Amino acid sequence: MKILVATSEAVPFAKTGGLADVTGALPLVLKEKGHDVRLVLPEYTMTKKWLANNPQFAVKRIDGIDVPIKGISIKCIVQELKYKNITVYLIKNDDYFLRDELYGTRSGDYEDNAERFIFFSRAVLKMLRLKDWSPDVIHLNDWQTSTIPLFLKTVYKDDPFYSSIATILTIHNLGYQGVFNPSELELFSGVDPQEIFTMDRIEFYGKINLLKAGIIYADIVNTVSPTYAQEIQTSECGYGLDGVLKQRSHELYGIINGIDYDVWNPETDKEIPYHYNLDCLENKELNKLNLINYFHLETKKAAAMSLQPLPDEQIPLIGLVGRLAAQKGLDILAEIFESLLSMDIRLILLGSGEEKYHSLLQKIARKYRGKISVNFGYNEELAHRIYASADMFLMPSHYEPCGLGQLISLRYGTVPIIRKTGGLSDTIEEFDPLSGDGNGFTFTEYSGKSLLQAIKRACYIYQHKPDWQRCVVSGMKQDYSWSNSAIEYVKLYRKAVDKVRKFKG
Ligand code: ADP
Repeated sequence: MKILVATSEAVPFAKTGGLADVTGALPLVLKEKGHDVRLVLPEYTMTKKWLANNPQFAVKRIDGIDVPIKGISIKCIVQELKYKNITVYLIKNDDYFLRDELYGTRSGDYEDNAERFIFFSRAVLKMLRLKDWSPDVIHLNDWQTSTIPLFLKTVYKDDPFYSSIATILTIHNLGYQGVFNPSELELFSGVDPQEIFTMDRIEFYGKINLLKAGIIYADIVNTVSPTYAQEIQTSECGYGLDGVLKQRSHELYGIINGIDYDVWNPETDKEIPYHYNLDCLENKELNKLNLINYFHLETKKAAAMSLQPLPDEQIPLIGLVGRLAAQKGLDILAEIFESLLSMDIRLILLGSGEEKYHSLLQKIARKYRGKISVNFGYNEELAHRIYASADMFLMPSHYEPCGLGQLISLRYGTVPIIRKTGGLSDTIEEFDPLSGDGNGFTFTEYSGKSLLQAIKRACYIYQHKPDWQRCVVSGMKQDYSWSNSAIEYVKLYRKAVDKVRKFKG
């Protein structure tokens, strides 16, 4: 099949979160399975930096194109490179994309985000004509590319070059919908605003909702886990779109994400000092000691605060890597910091996000120096080291479409402690020391108390080494590589293509 993956971020060119991991890894696996898959994303400052550091990937300028937007034409340049066997297109418009961040800063989103990503979506379609390459399917991701099917089914609907292209929209996180003022309707050049600004199209409580455009106009919609696909059809998790999603429930699927097993591999990971696998788990312990020393999480200091000082290897190291946002359960974690840090544990956190969590964590870090290490910012290397070194990994998410942290943790023998929601429910099961079943520790009620109980259960089992070992090993033996999920995506692509062909008769 000819597949175009259109995305606002993809590893290694630009990343703010899990979306980039998915769109970076899935095309490579689809290519291995014999498909003609190509990737398109904007060229950001971050992308330029990566290209400058990796000069072996030569970028070729194809041509300039005029993109219709807000009644005028704005230029962009289509660039192309080969990355691990796949063709990647970079859409270059420095006014829109040459910025330090992808979507905004800590003080808020960029004001012209609607314009930036409607521009990008329209540019993707114009680029296809420039390349004279008409894919069977365009795989859209989140609100940033959700207007592509709207353009296909309005301005391009009678154009033979475009009319048989099928679309599938993957919703990676319904919490981010791209909601803008109706004045932005002028961005949709060539589209009758009256036609699209209705309740059964993109109108959303008096505003426009770009993700809704994708949900309405894409041929097939999916999300990143079966449980999340169900949850988003309820009023608690639907963020106002549950009704629309329910209407499409017969064409709404859930496919669990995989992780890139080349990038996330404790046997070869170049970011970690000691490589390991199931046969030499002792090296995981060396990574832990190395990281503890690096962050001065010293036994003496920690012991001074503990009732019963334990040697290093008996004190569990708990890791957390992720966006510091309410979605990730930071508020219930904040509730229990004091109780948690009075236990015999050590905590390493890495993340960036909302200001209030930054200042709270700074305060906690000062108070519990020696027991907790708080690291702000985006740091790929440290993330790898934490996954490899920690004994346990925290994901107390309020909601979690799929979650990658728990899958990476399983691969690194780091036991996830999770809240049962979305993809976390689909992948992590409570460990039962009697049967040996399960791969982590779980809780359901969204409260600090339940989270603390789950951590305490994990710490209890941790002191019973043979049981703990079984839990670690069962996680490491699971397969969350992309191979299986890529097969599921191909099935969806075929469904979308069949649907379009049937419709055309
Ligand atoms: P999200 O909701 O942010 O997409 P996921 O669990 O799906 O959450 O994916 C998060 C990805 O981003 C994981 O690969 C995680 O390791 C990575 N990540 C998150 N925050 C950071 C950070 N501060 N530094 C490095 N990697 C990070």
